[in-house]
Amino acid sequence: MTLRTCVYCGQGVEMTQKETRSLHDLASFYCSGDCICNEIENMIPQFRHRLKPYFNHGNVSDTSVWCTETKRFYRSKYEKKVALFLEDRDIYYQYEQVRFDVGNTVYIPDFVVPDKDCVIEVKGAWQFGAKAKVTQFLLEYPDIRFILASWLIRNRW
Ligand SMILES: [Zn+2]
Repeated sequence: MTLRTCVYCGQGVEMTQKETRSLHDLASFYCSGDCICNEIENMIPQFRHRLKPYFNHGNVSDTSVWCTETKRFYRSKYEKKVALFLEDRDIYYQYEQVRFDVGNTVYIPDFVVPDKDCVIEVKGAWQFGAKAKVTQFLLEYPDIRFILASWLIRNRW
């Protein structure tokens, strides 16, 4: 077991080696959706980045999850949960609507809080290449606030 400490509230969370795989070495650890939302609310608004729109064609797959409240599909139940939590906290967000050029590819974060230059990546397992892309994003966009909603805290929203 390893111990991670929430950068917002200081609470320690024990996790197995396997659970640590949903984390990212360069991303801060938050213990709950409340701590993530508190952090975002406390961020000073900034619009330094001109966010580039990503035209989401709304591709729906077998694993898409419908949400009657927001009237749209999400890629997972966890993403839906995060969306509803952000709505509940009155945090204005965009879902898969912003793209960042990273190296010679494109990174589309799950959620963006545009008035805080903040992105939220909801992560179950890292697909092949996804972690390297996020690493590159963090290096190229150091002034964008990156929040990882790891699989480990999926039941803490
Ligand atoms: Zn916390």
